[in-house]
Amino acid sequence: MSGFFSFLKGTTARATALLVLIVSVSILITATLGYFKLYEVTATNSAIRIDRAARAATALFAERLASEFTAIRDENGRPQALQLKGTDTEAALSFRQDHDALLKEIGAINQGAANLFRLNPETQAFDRFATTFRKPDGSMPPPMSIGILHPAYDNLINNRPHLGEVPVMGRLRLAYLTPIQAASGAVAGALAVDVGWVDDLVAAKTELRWQIIVAAGLILVLVAAFGAAGMGAEMKPLRVLARYADDLAAGVPSGAVPYSTRDDEIGALAQGLKRVVALQDKLAHLAYTDSLTGLSNRGRYLSDLDTALRESLSGKRKWALIHLDLDKFKKINDAYGQTAGDSLLKEVASRIKETAGDGARIARLAADHFTILIGDGRSTDQASALAGKLLSALHQPIELRAGEFHVTGSAGIVLLQHDARDADEAHRNAGLALRKAKATGDRAVIFSSELHDESENNIRIERMLRLAIQEREIEIHFQPQIDPATNQLAGVEALARWTHPAEGPISPGLFIPIAESSGQIVDLGTLILDLACEQAAKWREKNFDFKHISVNVSPIQLWQSNFVAVVKDALKRHGLSGNEICIEITEGVFVDQSERRIETVLSAIRELGVLLSLDDFGSGYSSLGYLNRLPFDQLKVDRSFVSDIDTDVRKQKVLRGILELGRGLGFSIVIEGAETGEEVAVIRQMGCDAIQGFYYSRPAPALLIPEVVKKIARSQPASDARTA
Ligand code: C2E
Ligand code: MG
Ligand code: MG
Repeated sequence: MSGFFSFLKGTTARATALLVLIVSVSILITATLGYFKLYEVTATNSAIRIDRAARAATALFAERLASEFTAIRDENGRPQALQLKGTDTEAALSFRQDHDALLKEIGAINQGAANLFRLNPETQAFDRFATTFRKPDGSMPPPMSIGILHPAYDNLINNRPHLGEVPVMGRLRLAYLTPIQAASGAVAGALAVDVGWVDDLVAAKTELRWQIIVAAGLILVLVAAFGAAGMGAEMKPLRVLARYADDLAAGVPSGAVPYSTRDDEIGALAQGLKRVVALQDKLAHLAYTDSLTGLSNRGRYLSDLDTALRESLSGKRKWALIHLDLDKFKKINDAYGQTAGDSLLKEVASRIKETAGDGARIARLAADHFTILIGDGRSTDQASALAGKLLSALHQPIELRAGEFHVTGSAGIVLLQHDARDADEAHRNAGLALRKAKATGDRAVIFSSELHDESENNIRIERMLRLAIQEREIEIHFQPQIDPATNQLAGVEALARWTHPAEGPISPGLFIPIAESSGQIVDLGTLILDLACEQAAKWREKNFDFKHISVNVSPIQLWQSNFVAVVKDALKRHGLSGNEICIEITEGVFVDQSERRIETVLSAIRELGVLLSLDDFGSGYSSLGYLNRLPFDQLKVDRSFVSDIDTDVRKQKVLRGILELGRGLGFSIVIEGAETGEEVAVIRQMGCDAIQGFYYSRPAPALLIPEVVKKIARSQPASDARTA
């Protein structure tokens, strides 16, 4: 039903309705014209016929009954009244066989009826005395009179003929009533002639009208049916093209555009649609392709991820998502320029494509960040095997015009059916796994819920830390650096301490990396530098000879454009000279930066008189070249070289080597992490400027430090204690 109503709204229905309307109007006009013409002709013919019938009857009367009647004629000689010759009106106008026979003849000739009337002088009505009418049984009909109310009366009583419809037996007949005059000329009666029932004419007209209506109706039904069918067939291509355009807009693939070979308006429309399809394909290609590598871009990645996720969750196919990122790509870009960087990315893209195979969907999201969706990521083993293959494919040297490059990458893996409820979560979890992998580089990490918990916890800590910095909840403790030969203080290191009101103490090993990744390290570092300078000023005032306070500085702080100004300002505010502060930088400072930049910043710090120490030496990215060229004053040998040094002969050799190298380059040397007297004794024999370790003291609040230092100075040097 609703289909029918919607059909009515369509062009086909409107065109059909218009057609039907036009045809109806045409039929109505022609039928009305025909009908009225017929009406007019019928009326004229009847009038002529009745006129002739009446006059012929009058003439016949005058002729046959010439002894009694004479015909009065008009100027054209046409009989218009009968006149009695004799004076006995009553005898002449009463029923007689010859009258009856004549009437019958007249009736037969006219195919109608004939009657004779006589004026009753008493009633002044015209009484019928002879007629051609008979009852069905053949007997005479009941008497009848033309009284004052009869339509013919007025004419007859005034001696005039009457032409018109007269009531007969409850119906109408078209009749001509000719007056019959007495010899005196006064009206005496009438001869009435008719040509049949008017109703028959009316009935014929009505029948004609009905025939016209039925014929017109039939024509209209045919027009509507064939019109609608024909119109519907003509409109079908339009409907098909409209559906095609609809599907096109909805992104439903619908094959080639239909009717495009037709040579008419439909063909032109289809050709237009074809051009739209081509344009859409072109736009889709541009919108979903990474122009540098020809891989998919972020938009396509997101839609592929959506599809893969749906298939994974429904169990149709199990997909794994790999996020792959090059390690230290920025360094190559900075050092060799964007063109070399682009060429490298292209080569990496083609290696990923080759290794991942045809079924994989590969995209590049940003600079060196690639994503790979593989459809057979059924198990963690399969997914990590592929990630491993991808990473080893990167190991082959890459030949570019700028030279030969060695790159490594990191990968984060998510099994979609296990670890993602939606695309957002899949993307986030792969990112988390990748970040974990990147911490060491050149490895693949599979996402696990612990990773997620860790990241949630980190986010929580990040939020708490922001508040802690604002409220200056962070404090510093100090750990003495002791000259093992004399047990005298050589300096102190400031170490950040955070005790959260609800969570208790939180280790710097946890919150410093979070501060670094969230950027809060800049504010935190400035706060700690300020606290350290404040303490230095206090100790100086109390004449406690702390030598210098070492402050740890993150590479991120160092790359702030105002870092040197911040240090200068802190020194100035607390009235310190540069050499009362030492800045400790880890080897991480050498990652992702050009040597020139490192040198510029370090020299600017050195110019303030501030000491520079290379922290955790030997634990990471050691470059002896840097050591030689950069303005460090002090090397802090990493704790890993010290533990069990008293029993591990190889470690002793390594440490001895490091010490010789450092001394040879003119650095003062601090050794970190000596916990036992035995370790201290071995180090002392090798000779170094200071030891910072639990053996002497754990980090402690500033207030306790002078006392701790005094105690150490009073105690025997470690080896002496042992030999004593
Ligand atoms: P670091 O700069 O190498 O500091 C020395 C770390 O070794 C300190 O840990 C210290 O408590 C610990 N340590 C000293 N002697 C011994 C020992 O004999 N045995 C053992 N097992 N450990 C010893 P802490 O305070 O937990 O700090 C850890 C790291 O956090 C620091 O290593 C430093 O890299 C970072 N850090 C601490 N405070 C700050 C800060 O204010 N700013 C920045 N950027 N980093 C900081
Ligand atoms: Mg340090
Ligand atoms: Mg250290």
